[in-house]
Amino acid sequence: MSLHPMKTLLVEARAKGYAVPAFNCANLEMIQCVLRTAAELRAPVILGIHPVEMDYMGGAPVAVAIARAVAEGLDVDYAIHQDHGDTVETCIRSIRSGFTSVMYDGSHLPIEENAANSAEVVRIAHAYGVTVEGEVGTIGMTDEFGARLENAHLCDPDMAERLAATGIDCLAVAIGNAHGFYTATPELRFDLLEEINRRVKIPLVLHGGTGIPRDQVQQAIRMGVAKMNVGTALRYAFVRAAADLCASEVVRDLPLMALGRAGIRAGAEVVREYMDICMCAGRSG
Ligand SMILES: [Zn+2]
Repeated sequence: MSLHPMKTLLVEARAKGYAVPAFNCANLEMIQCVLRTAAELRAPVILGIHPVEMDYMGGAPVAVAIARAVAEGLDVDYAIHQDHGDTVETCIRSIRSGFTSVMYDGSHLPIEENAANSAEVVRIAHAYGVTVEGEVGTIGMTDEFGARLENAHLCDPDMAERLAATGIDCLAVAIGNAHGFYTATPELRFDLLEEINRRVKIPLVLHGGTGIPRDQVQQAIRMGVAKMNVGTALRYAFVRAAADLCASEVVRDLPLMALGRAGIRAGAEVVREYMDICMCAGRSG
């Protein structure tokens, strides 16, 4: 088992033409599901843990302790990544707790403020060997924007270049992607991605991976995307499996563990599917 700075996994992926999926995890079972399936597939993987998910688990140190304990004994190359931290303080807390990567999301701020805060996170994170992901343009929710996002929310290549100059290790781009279930098939803006990739030399990150068609993901990988976030699909697999079990059994007699096991089984299918889309299986040393 090997815990890496996320940058190590992304640089390797970009050089070899695949992406590493980051699966959002909110509890022990999701972490078990993701790490065990990655180990089976010999695929590098990223545990994406949002500050809300950390709080649910009892704080950043608890999340890290669970991840490390589950990984112990597994042969898996992984990173523990803080998803969407909206303050510098949140990022510092995760860095101090043992996360090997943090996303500072200042995309809601004017670019100069976003860049200043990103630079501050970079200064601290890099002193600990921790990776930093930044964001420009707003990757909204699918139900806010529909499949066609307004131009105002897309990633501006000038701003991408400005943010990359702060020393961030990877950049999340808004190119027609969004969080949640897409209400129509998304159409990624490859013209924009191509320009950003030409001007920004760091690995790019695609959020809202659930439901982006395979050919579009793989085209994006050829244009510099080295990490894809998958939250909705894994969460839905766990919730659906638990709901189906509750509907089919006498709930009074149902062991709580049966719900967890059903989720792990269903979630493993999702992890396999996205590993395949990202062309990530078999890539671990
Ligand atoms: Zn996101």
